[in-house]
Amino acid sequence: MSSLLILKTRICLKYISPLFNPSTAGFTPLNNVISKLSVSSRLLCTKGGSRHAGNNRKEDRQREFNIRERLPFPKSVFAAGTAKRTAEYQKKRAEEEPDFPRKNKRVEPPDHPLTASEWKSLKLTSPNPDRFDVRMMSSMLADGTDINVAKSLLAYVAMDTGTLSYELLLRYLTLCVGSGHHSEVFDMYDIMRSRFRTLDTGASSLFIKGFSRTERWKEALTILENIKRAITPSPRNYGDTIAGAVLHGDGDTAWALYAELMEKGLIPNQDTWQALFQCGLSHQGHEDGLQSILLHLRDNQIYPEETLAKDIKAWFDSLPEQKWIGSWSTVDPRGVCRSCQAELESIQLSREEYAQLKDRVMGDVIQGRDVFNKTTPEELESFKNFVKRKPAFDVVIDGLNVANIGIKGNQSQTLLEVVSELERQGLVILVLGRKHMQRPSRSWDRHDMSLVQQKAHCFFTDNISEDDPFLLYATLHSGNHCNFVSRDLMRDHKACLPDGATRRLFFKWQRGHQLVLSSYTPGKRVRFQRILSYDTIVQTNGGSWHIPYDENGAERCTYEVPQKWLCLTKAK
Ligand SMILES: [Zn+2]
Repeated sequence: MSSLLILKTRICLKYISPLFNPSTAGFTPLNNVISKLSVSSRLLCTKGGSRHAGNNRKEDRQREFNIRERLPFPKSVFAAGTAKRTAEYQKKRAEEEPDFPRKNKRVEPPDHPLTASEWKSLKLTSPNPDRFDVRMMSSMLADGTDINVAKSLLAYVAMDTGTLSYELLLRYLTLCVGSGHHSEVFDMYDIMRSRFRTLDTGASSLFIKGFSRTERWKEALTILENIKRAITPSPRNYGDTIAGAVLHGDGDTAWALYAELMEKGLIPNQDTWQALFQCGLSHQGHEDGLQSILLHLRDNQIYPEETLAKDIKAWFDSLPEQKWIGSWSTVDPRGVCRSCQAELESIQLSREEYAQLKDRVMGDVIQGRDVFNKTTPEELESFKNFVKRKPAFDVVIDGLNVANIGIKGNQSQTLLEVVSELERQGLVILVLGRKHMQRPSRSWDRHDMSLVQQKAHCFFTDNISEDDPFLLYATLHSGNHCNFVSRDLMRDHKACLPDGATRRLFFKWQRGHQLVLSSYTPGKRVRFQRILSYDTIVQTNGGSWHIPYDENGAERCTYEVPQKWLCLTKAK
């Protein structure tokens, strides 16, 4: 009998050996749970179902039924409404079992593979054995635990319960992909495809990433096609397949995928651009495509990260017959490149540009339909009359936004200090506030607020109104010299603008007119960051490119602009 058991064990181990290495996964205790093992190995094996002839077929069917029952997505992922359901399911799951963020629920992964009995005792001593396997795998994922430890967990769960949930396998797959264990990814692909009728987008995305890095990268394209039948693939899906094509020297496929991504209006990840520049480095051609990426960065006010900037430089350096000189540079306060002495584009809008922008913002943002979600026609009308009666402002302050820069509970003092500094500069100031700011409280001191009103013109909107439309209106109405103070980026308003050209103008205007506090210490003189005279944006005049980029590790707030530049000039 014992020899038969050992024989059966060997057969099973043979099938599952790609997934479980007995030498590392601690499989010896399998001998005494042979019946469970054959079921679990069926789950883990993809081929040779008939080799499990010794199993009780009825029990098998029952188990299979149980497995299907437990599937999170029993319907095809390609069925209408699945994506929404998936999102809802994942949301619900996340709400039910937030196993990542809650520290008290975290289980510590062991530092070496455990035997089944060791796993069992670890589970029993765990303060919360519920969903132990999934939580353990999640911790392994977070810690980047050795794959063999994860395998030993899977082996234990398969033996203990006779099944492996989709959820557990998905986490294991994430670990395999993340740690670059290609053969395990292939095994998981075979297993999951044979065990589950469909794969959700999460698993498909992981397989795309996993396959793209291997000689089987073309299968990632098939998986991408499958996703496309149901939903729009993510930029990451495209990025992974593009990287796979580039890695395997197929530039045409990479560029075709990139064109498709752009056609769908998706926003590429920076490493996708990086892959394409690297592709350009090893395969000549696609110059127009690469230049269009740079123009895309310009049009969308995107700053490349340092790693991408390095690849851009390397690509320019590699161009034969065009001698580009690339250097890392900075720009002096006058807007002159310290490397090639070229003058960068001014931040100032021309008279025509300003008129065009004002026209569109007044029409599309201020008068646009959606503005009345944020205010009322009456309130806006009364504000316009208020502005008409006042002199042109030099600076408009988003009062609530600015007041919240300082310590909580002392907002009026912060606002007063900012207003006082601007008054000291002899500026005509408008403070936009909310009505509640006029009600004396701990945050809004009566004396401070009365001084604010002596130093500045003030307009207080209803408490529910949003300040942005008022701020834009007053600033643009006052003329091109008028700046505004806010930490807000007004991204919503960009969306209201009808075309790319106006959106670019809006951002340029914003970069040139938004005053930002460089630091604020209560009681000390308020200082603003200087508004640069030049525009920090990718720019070219044909003979040169200037590309502002984000340095590695440099933290930049969204309203700030990079200080480092890649300067590329063509040798004459
Ligand atoms: Zn330069």
